[in-house]
Amino acid sequence: MSTSHLLPTYARIDIAFERGEGAWLITEQGDRYLDFGAGIAVASLGYNHPHLVKALHDQADRLWHTSNLFKIPDGERLATRLCAATFADVAFFTNSGAEALECAIKMARKYHSVSGHPERYRIITFEGAFHGRTLATIAATGNPKYLDGFGPKVEGFDQVPFADHEALKAAIGPETAAILVEPVQGEGGVRPVPAQCLRGLRELCDKHGILLIFDEVQTGVGRTGELYAYQAANVAPDIMTSAKGLGGGFPVGACLATHEAAKGMTAGTHGTTYGGNPLAMACANAVLDVVLEPAFLEHVRLMGLSLKQKLASLKDRYPRVIEDVRGSGLLMGLKMRVPNGDFAMAARAEKLIIIPAGDNVVRLLPPLIINEAEIAAAVERLDRACASFDLQAAPAQEKA
Ligand SMILES: *Cc1c(COP(=O)(O)O)cnc(C)c1O
Repeated sequence: MSTSHLLPTYARIDIAFERGEGAWLITEQGDRYLDFGAGIAVASLGYNHPHLVKALHDQADRLWHTSNLFKIPDGERLATRLCAATFADVAFFTNSGAEALECAIKMARKYHSVSGHPERYRIITFEGAFHGRTLATIAATGNPKYLDGFGPKVEGFDQVPFADHEALKAAIGPETAAILVEPVQGEGGVRPVPAQCLRGLRELCDKHGILLIFDEVQTGVGRTGELYAYQAANVAPDIMTSAKGLGGGFPVGACLATHEAAKGMTAGTHGTTYGGNPLAMACANAVLDVVLEPAFLEHVRLMGLSLKQKLASLKDRYPRVIEDVRGSGLLMGLKMRVPNGDFAMAARAEKLIIIPAGDNVVRLLPPLIINEAEIAAAVERLDRACASFDLQAAPAQEKA
């Protein structure tokens, strides 16, 4: 019997961290772990980043929360900066990724409703997607594991297989409101949607008058080497969600949209008590101060390339352990030939944190401030983890 009074919805690893420094997490006993998980792509600037800490402290001394009954100048500023850097004209701030998705889903439905087509409320999503754990976002995610036992699935989501163009075209009907897609599936196993497919989705949406929603909760805020992953494909959505890395560890999300897509979201149609509060806005603005510096995304791209090259040679050395290297920037995945959870555990024994995902993949999502020496150290640790499996795999191979 567990003595914990926490709801046991997580099979937690028996490690607790006391503090962090850059890309390192440190336990109370002083064990130092190199963190290639970043709290699931959240700690975009690593731990204890001086600019972020100062912004939080300064804001904490002044004002935490006012509610959205009043103007929040730092929220105006964050929205202006995000819109200037993306396709968007307007932003709605939330506390999480799932709430950003809820806003996007409601917005897409409302758009058609105020356009005289209330029957257009259905949203097409893709197998392997992850959009959150609220009732609507588990329906969008479509994973039976997350839906089972929670009553009737929220109506209006049609899931099609990943990369099946014919199934996608067949799924579009007179009730279709939007297509919702992650430019790179994160939880699904670092599965990128090729640029030409993203452009194909845009054309399909334009042809049928439906909205294109990009879920960039995991891919956004520099993770893939662009501010948002869609920017590499030279195609713009109508609505986009962001969260995870946006607050660098402070819970904040955003739903960004064009004026046109957001035209139904008038006063009173949507709301949140905490979303976009001054403390969250100070943190997200501080993250942007760093990520929008001219050389920052170039650093992410360079580190991403270096990591990818080293992982490719690791795969060449351990073909019985690693099947494939995927991803871009610092959203990297290793498709494993051994169970991904076991491999993550072996990496942890080498004091390296990596994160299992779908499709038997482990994700490597270091803080974006990672440096060359830390990448080399991570790959050495992965090498030792691979070796521990190859020893076991070798005799079985000989018998075969
Ligand atoms: C994590 C994630 C979400 C959900 O975000 P929460 O903050 O956990 O609600 C939604 N979409 C994608 C792509 C994600 O990676």
